[in-house]
Amino acid sequence: MLGRGRDLHSERGVECPGDLPAPSDPGLVERARAAKAALGDKVFVLGHHYQRDEVIEFADVTGDSFKLAKEAAARPDAPWIVFCGVHFMAESADILTSEDQTVILPDLAAGCSMADMAAIAQVEDCWDELVEAGVADAVVPVTYMNSSAAIKAFTGRHGGTVCTSSNARTALTWALSERGGLEGDGKVLFLPDQHLGRNTWARDLGGSLDDCVVWDPHRPLGGLTVEELRAARMILWRGHCSVHGRFTTEAVAAARATIPGVRVIVHPECRHEVVELADEVGSTERIIQTIAAAPDGTAWAVGTELNLVQRLGQMFPAQRITFLEKNVCYCSTMNRIDLPHLVWALESLVDGRVVNPIRVEPQVAADARVALDQMLALPGETSKD
Ligand code: SF4
Repeated sequence: MLGRGRDLHSERGVECPGDLPAPSDPGLVERARAAKAALGDKVFVLGHHYQRDEVIEFADVTGDSFKLAKEAAARPDAPWIVFCGVHFMAESADILTSEDQTVILPDLAAGCSMADMAAIAQVEDCWDELVEAGVADAVVPVTYMNSSAAIKAFTGRHGGTVCTSSNARTALTWALSERGGLEGDGKVLFLPDQHLGRNTWARDLGGSLDDCVVWDPHRPLGGLTVEELRAARMILWRGHCSVHGRFTTEAVAAARATIPGVRVIVHPECRHEVVELADEVGSTERIIQTIAAAPDGTAWAVGTELNLVQRLGQMFPAQRITFLEKNVCYCSTMNRIDLPHLVWALESLVDGRVVNPIRVEPQVAADARVALDQMLALPGETSKD
């Protein structure tokens, strides 16, 4: 259960031990301002695009997970980095910042359900089974940024790379290049988002869906046969985003039926059939850039996290922006970071107490850094989540 127990090797969080301000406290905004002013340059607040407005208001910079981690690394003089996002993002920031800096997650229960779908023990077992099946030599692991530090470290130890939603195509091309590229016999173990892996393979690289298999970590040999594994090019981990995975083809059809001239734009964590029906597909940063560049009056149905879609409506009032799917909610874990938690984290720093520090074990951090550095070495690398 989120918020109960303590498992540092997963994205599951723990309870906040301190005294949180009451959400009804009318002075919260002023308290946050005062604490931030008192801390000055000693604190740097990062806000992910999917965060609430009440939190974004206090962010020194907003962006996707990788951009935020790099922003943190570019502020070596700030001893405290308050990361308003989810656990794997804070881990990446800790890996990429100096030892003198401490990354703070205002609510440790802000995990990511997708990252939680690949536990390191399951992934190690998967690799052992791939070795036994005689296919591991042809496999390069590629893990999405949205994974735990332990999974990134596994990827680093096995010669793979991290990827983001904007460079997944480049990452797959690189991973397959050692064994003949797209026409060769190399395979990718793609973690943990099956949809991003499938969409990148089929949509961006023109690969066949028949080359994809899904590894179910709860079944022997992932629920596959040795023959299926030998024939596959993409071994997709059975994970998904609990927000983006809920957008449907029916919602796309409904938007087209009810909004004249609508353009449908979705994130590549959406299911393949939804992505196939969309007019545009892109990371959070790409969605923002695409809408910013469109002529006034363009109608958009946007398939990504609701906080961002609502903010897009405020940012671009000349555009007609709607949320693609009426049955999709906010990301519940992103929303764990609220103003009371932010005020608590900042005021604690003012009082000389560091709450909720995120520290990745040195060996895990070193191995994960190998995979992150490999991503940075990919041609034309840009930052996106
Ligand atoms: S939106 Fe999806 S991938 Fe992003 S933090 Fe929430 S569950 Fe994880």
